Amino acid sequence: MKLKALIIESTRHYSSVLDKILSDIGVECDIYASGEEALRSDNKPEYAFILVSRYLDDTTGELFLHRFREKYMMGDALTIMLTSDEVSKVMMEANNAGFKLVFNKKELNSIQTFLTSVLNNRILNLKGKILFIEDQKSVAAATVAIFKNYQADIEHVVNLAEMKEKFSNNSYDLVITDYYLENEETGDDIIQFVRDYDDFDKALVPILVVSGEVDQKKRTSFLRNGANDFMIKPYDADELIVRSSNLIQNKRVFEQTKKQQKELTRLAMTDQLTGLYNRHSLFDIGPKYLSNAIRHKFAVSLLVIDLDHFKNVNDTHGHGVGDHVLKSVGQVLNDSCRSEDLVARYGGEEFVMILTHCDLDFAAKKAENIRLAIEKSKPNDLTITASIGAAALNISDSFETLFEKADKAVYEAKDTGRNKVVVHPDRFDNVI
Ligand code: GH3
Ligand code: MG
Ligand code: MG
Ligand code: MG
Repeated sequence: MKLKALIIESTRHYSSVLDKILSDIGVECDIYASGEEALRSDNKPEYAFILVSRYLDDTTGELFLHRFREKYMMGDALTIMLTSDEVSKVMMEANNAGFKLVFNKKELNSIQTFLTSVLNNRILNLKGKILFIEDQKSVAAATVAIFKNYQADIEHVVNLAEMKEKFSNNSYDLVITDYYLENEETGDDIIQFVRDYDDFDKALVPILVVSGEVDQKKRTSFLRNGANDFMIKPYDADELIVRSSNLIQNKRVFEQTKKQQKELTRLAMTDQLTGLYNRHSLFDIGPKYLSNAIRHKFAVSLLVIDLDHFKNVNDTHGHGVGDHVLKSVGQVLNDSCRSEDLVARYGGEEFVMILTHCDLDFAAKKAENIRLAIEKSKPNDLTITASIGAAALNISDSFETLFEKADKAVYEAKDTGRNKVVVHPDRFDNVI
């Protein structure tokens, strides 16, 4: 049976390109130009892939997937959003909408490569590294031969000790283990070794247990202990290959999703314009700086940096220049601090710096240097100045109260002429 893909894409030219890519790798496509058309169709085969454009003529990819889900069971379809925008910008939206992956429409090559790699596993060309533990030589030889038919890269070992050595020195996509091994070792020992492994990525490698054991309770216990799948010996060669292939493929999809997830977390914490931490991460990470300082008894100071009359920059030179100036000031701030400090863009033209191992006097000096550096930096040939408020952590401060002190100091700097540093006077119980 041929694998099927569902494609929802308004541009005919583009959908025919996708059709070509997919049929080249043996996938049959149902193509619809609009969400309505696809939803009207009574044709509902099990799709291996569902590719949907972010924007359709009549709906969005997000709404389409939502309605499609309500109407049909989707099985384990790999849902992919196609976008003309930067992938990183739509990843969050796509993930929330239930898409597993996002691809840029222009990057046809990566779409093709990815689908091919997924399919190569589906159509039983086992691209992956397999570690196989089996104590009986004849069974082992027969099994290895089955895998070699599919060009699989399989390594055979006979006991736990050999397995441990191989596993530690290599990276596998699948572990297949016999249950009863020599010297009362079992598949459970193998599972436990893998799942407790220090390296998180390795610990998650899929495990397939093969055994002559038919007792239902025992089989369930393999799965409960951390095996992903189970087969009774003697096994059918095709079934062994299909199950192995599925496990490897799931691992690939998981890896890709994890990569996107990691990128999402990074994006959620970063200010897009300047690459500095954003407001959200400031309030998330900031308090940790403080508790750390209190625990280890070192000083921490906080600066609030607000650009002067920044509205004039936008009004006179346009928003684009304004953005460029913000980016450049962000760079100046980043260059002025040590790696253990934190710089965040907290609002439009407002920045915050948390300075570790830095008492109020040192913070005042540092703030003055930063003020000068901004004034001298002349982004777009403009003289940009900033008002800076500095405050030091007292033992009774929370992140909020420390922030308020620095913020008050900025207001005073604004009120008394701008382009200056004001230090919050609160230092009487500065016991840290
Ligand atoms: P003050 O010296 O009192 O701080 O004056 P100001 O004009 O800097 O302060 P105000 O808060 O009145 O205005 C801040 C301006 O910053 C308003 C807005 O146009 C601009 N701004 C905020 N975010 C952005 C941004 O992302 N890009 C650009 N270009 N401008 C921004
Ligand atoms: Mg055995
Ligand atoms: Mg402001
Ligand atoms: Mg301002």
